Order: sequence, then structure tokens, then C-alpha cells
Amino acid sequence: MNQNPDSHSVRRIVLPSGRSIEVVRFSLEARPIHGLHVCPECSSQLVQPVQWGEATVGFWELTLQCPNCDWLTDGVFDQAQVDEFEEQLDDGLTDMLNDLRRLTQANMTDEIDRFAAALHSDLILPEDF
Ligand SMILES: [Zn+2]
Repeated sequence: MNQNPDSHSVRRIVLPSGRSIEVVRFSLEARPIHGLHVCPECSSQLVQPVQWGEATVGFWELTLQCPNCDWLTDGVFDQAQVDEFEEQLDDGLTDMLNDLRRLTQANMTDEIDRFAAALHSDLILPEDF
């Protein structure tokens, strides 16, 4: 299996806006190693979709932005790329919710400790309620 890494196919698609674009698909070896969530400018893994829509069946037109360096791009990506990107976004959301849960728990523990300390010091009286 000796595949040329420069091999690619070009497909012309017409967007709902009427604009016609060429989608260049490279062979597996030539595809970017990193997914759409990785910024090509600063390597941040926090690239987000800021606008999206179906370009044509199996292709999505996305506007991507890096919150770290403000890199912004428009592009048309195939379903497999978008599926992988969606998984990365879901993983990121799960991580963020776990962090929020831990932070909320830490804040509540801190509040309870302060409330208990105030009770012991007679700083909270019945008329406070
Ligand atoms: Zn960036």
C-alpha cells in the first residue's frame, strides 16, 4: 500500500446562498493531525464554532474562532470532521460542568465553615432571621 500523500480530490458544491465553492479533500495521510478544536495559530484546544449551517448533504459550513488569539476562519468541513469536533466540544462541556460542580461544592463548604464559625462566635442572632 504505497499511497501518494499529495493525492486529493476536488469537489464543487453550491451553498444555499448560491455561492459555489470547491472542497479539496486530501488523502488520510495529508489530513491535519489535529482536529478542528485545535488553533493552527497558537495551538490552543479551545477553538469554538461561532456560526454554522449545512452547506450541502454531508458538508457543513463553519465559522471557527479561537478565544485565545482571536484567530477566525470560515470553512466547509465533511461530516466526519464535524462529528469529531462535536465530540471534542462535548468532552469540553463535560469537563467544564465537572469543574463547576467542584467549585460550587468548595464554595458551599467554605460558606458552611464561615457560618459555623459565626454561630460559635455569637455573631448570628435570632433577630438576623
Ligand atoms: Zn489561537
